[in-house]
Amino acid sequence: MGRLRRSRVHNARRDVHRASRTRVRTRDLDQIQLLDLDPKRRAELEAQPLDYEKPGLAQHYCVECAKYYETDAALTSHWRSKVHKRRCKQLKEPVYTIEESERAAGLGRAETRPRVAVSMGMEQDGVLAT
Ligand SMILES: [Zn+2]
Repeated sequence: MGRLRRSRVHNARRDVHRASRTRVRTRDLDQIQLLDLDPKRRAELEAQPLDYEKPGLAQHYCVECAKYYETDAALTSHWRSKVHKRRCKQLKEPVYTIEESERAAGLGRAETRPRVAVSMGMEQDGVLAT
């Protein structure tokens, strides 16, 4: 991996490679909307068994953001934060489905080949010459 690109990227995102790493990939909005926000599943997620691999032993989980917190205080302050409120707003919008994308392209349901994961398009280091 080369140097981290610092110019012309979103100012708060220092590590541009992070988004494309599968290790840190969180759940997608549609997954949360269709699966996790279901009351039964939500209760399950909020009362997870002790997990030593997860931050805070998986006891403080924000369902909307699919994120673990270390303490109760951290979780409650997160619920009041801008990030969380923005996320809730996004989750209230209708889910983006394959059907919708096909309708937008005027395709109907012509082809059903498996979709290939789209790369983030931020792999190059660009013009950061020293
Ligand atoms: Zn949240």
